[in-house]
Amino acid sequence: MDKRPEWTAHVRRVTPYVPGEQPNETDMIKLNTNENPYPPSPAVFEACHNLDPAAFSLYPELSAGSLVRSLAAYHGISEREVFVGVGSDDVLSLAFLTFFNADKPILFADITYSFYPVWAEVYRIPFACMALRPDLTIDPADYDRENGGVVIANPNAPTSIGMTVSQIEDVIRANPGVVVIIDEAYVDFGGETVLPLISKYDNLLVVRTYSKSRSLAGMRIGYAMGNENLIQALNDVKESINSYTINTASIRMGIASLGDEQYFQENLQKVMRTRERVKEALREMGFDVKQSQTNFLFVSHHTVPATEIFEKLKQRHIYVRYFSKKRIENYLRITVGTEEQMDRFLEAVREITGTF
Ligand SMILES: *Cc1c(COP(=O)(O)O)cnc(C)c1O
Repeated sequence: MDKRPEWTAHVRRVTPYVPGEQPNETDMIKLNTNENPYPPSPAVFEACHNLDPAAFSLYPELSAGSLVRSLAAYHGISEREVFVGVGSDDVLSLAFLTFFNADKPILFADITYSFYPVWAEVYRIPFACMALRPDLTIDPADYDRENGGVVIANPNAPTSIGMTVSQIEDVIRANPGVVVIIDEAYVDFGGETVLPLISKYDNLLVVRTYSKSRSLAGMRIGYAMGNENLIQALNDVKESINSYTINTASIRMGIASLGDEQYFQENLQKVMRTRERVKEALREMGFDVKQSQTNFLFVSHHTVPATEIFEKLKQRHIYVRYFSKKRIENYLRITVGTEEQMDRFLEAVREITGTF
């Protein structure tokens, strides 16, 4: 006899996405969730200090209007082409719900952001995974087949490898009848953006986040850009679930971040310089390191197994990300931290791999 309560038969069952650990040790080096190691711009701090708590008794602006206008101006597009959400996870999940309602499977890579299959499952969207090539790159030709929509992370995660604009354009051109979502979470770290193509293709949705390049993971700000009909459809679904999503503090800080372009560019340069230095150092220690256009490195050692390096780093309170998934079970994803953090990381790896 099944003793479970009757209601359990009607629960929407899913296997949830598993985010990277959030340990909290004073001496830890956290290189496991691709956060930016540097604080946000001083302009963001100022916006934060200037917040008037009295305003918190009011609902935030509808559709984050002032942030939408700032983003439109920043990117040189119309405000009708911008949609803001609570992190890009919120934006992507809403986009899945809004645009992927065909009977045909949506397509994404077999090795990519592991939230895509989770949303597909929770919304009951059929999906098919396109295998990356042996070198872990995406083959655009794989997306030239019948489907209910396409989603590509560019640059891809956790591989760190980017596609060119013309490769992505091939995918968009092959799929005029469905929405193509390009998740540009890491594009600011040297990737190629397809943003200019939104005026050319009415089925292209470009998704961005403040969590990585703008050092604001804790404020939860993400956004999408695309043809105004796509944006309208997203707003209609959002307004049918929760009218007030992004909060007042995030709206103000999000605007302030856009106002300090110099800090933003310097921060990106710092992260990319460190990335290249660490990449070379790891290669000298016998690692295969993918060409990264992100703020992380995807690496595999020639002799020492990834799980062993992972565990031994953890003993030293250095956290990186390991995915126990076929084809990448011998890889580690390492977020680029500060120069000092990466020196300590490299020292530990040198010990672990025996390359003194
Ligand atoms: C980090 C990440 C996101 C989600 O970021 P948010 O913090 O929700 O804005 C989306 N896509 C990819 C590929 C990511 O790595």
